Amino acid sequence: MTLTPPPTLKLRIDRTALADNWRALDRLSGKARAGAAVKADCYGLGVEHCVPALRDAGCRDFFVAHWSEVPAVLGHIPPEQLAVLHGPINEAEVAFAKETGAIPVIDSLHQARLWKEGGGGPCHLMVDSGINRLGVARKNIGDPVIQALDVQVLLSHLACADEDSDMNAQQLADFNEARSAVEHREASLANSAGIVLGEAYHFDLTRPGLALYGGVPRPELAGEILQVAYPYAAVIQVRELSAGDTVGYNATFTAPEDMRVGVLSLGYADGILRAWSGASFQRGNASLPILGKVSMDMIVIDLAQAPDIAEGDWVELPYHLPDAAQQTSLSQYELLTVLGHRFQR
Ligand SMILES: *Cc1c(COP(=O)(O)O)cnc(C)c1O
Repeated sequence: MTLTPPPTLKLRIDRTALADNWRALDRLSGKARAGAAVKADCYGLGVEHCVPALRDAGCRDFFVAHWSEVPAVLGHIPPEQLAVLHGPINEAEVAFAKETGAIPVIDSLHQARLWKEGGGGPCHLMVDSGINRLGVARKNIGDPVIQALDVQVLLSHLACADEDSDMNAQQLADFNEARSAVEHREASLANSAGIVLGEAYHFDLTRPGLALYGGVPRPELAGEILQVAYPYAAVIQVRELSAGDTVGYNATFTAPEDMRVGVLSLGYADGILRAWSGASFQRGNASLPILGKVSMDMIVIDLAQAPDIAEGDWVELPYHLPDAAQQTSLSQYELLTVLGHRFQR
């Protein structure tokens, strides 16, 4: 078979910006060092592109959610630098942890027992301080099976760090209580937003994710964080519409006059959801509005401002995350993780 032709979708990953973002977050973490949440394939941007850049910038503490995410990350870093947030829920996962050397985050009494029965060893411990997702409940921290763990990093996770909520100080107080209730070598509480809540939230290690990849969860980070992901699509057809012609499913757009439009080969299957209807692509200074509904594999744009565009030319979807979140009502997290596999990264 002949080689597959290059894709008509590109996601440019600015690795220099990614490394700069990590360095900025490491600096903002004060005396603590910054780690990196690299779960969900580095928030959709690709482990193979992002983990080496983070490692080369100096990051030494990486976090994934699932055990299935471990092998890809271990292609780039040693296992003792990788922690698995969801912890082991059965013997197979304990065995996998032992085999790979990735560090389990123990999240419950059940997990602590499994880990002990599997031979134990150094682990991290997640304690709940109010988010009620994963983490040992406060009332169980004194349990002998928890007290017997060899805890490297004691973790908890903030629920409202991106808001000025009273819950932040409450969780901080609860975490400090947990710190005195169980032995541990290091402590870690802050995600991206938590880093700018102040020094009291830093402890030994911070765990930014979103902001590494260009997300700005709090205004204090706006001047510090650079865009990392830039989606581009090729124009696969140029069409001439007559006044009165309609575009796309349900004919929601009607041409008010004769128009020149372009068909792009991307759609909601690539993560460009219908929430983008009404937004514009761009090429240089030209703004190219989306016409009609976003389809699974196609989007039609108005070429009025770019009369020179031809088939095969590339246009960019503005993906500055805070602006894109406003535009679409999607969260900055969703905007990253939704980007599909047809993008060449
Ligand atoms: C995802 C995650 C992070 C990173 O959070 P951001 O808000 O993306 O910075 C940190 N800690 C835990 C436990 C997480 O699940």
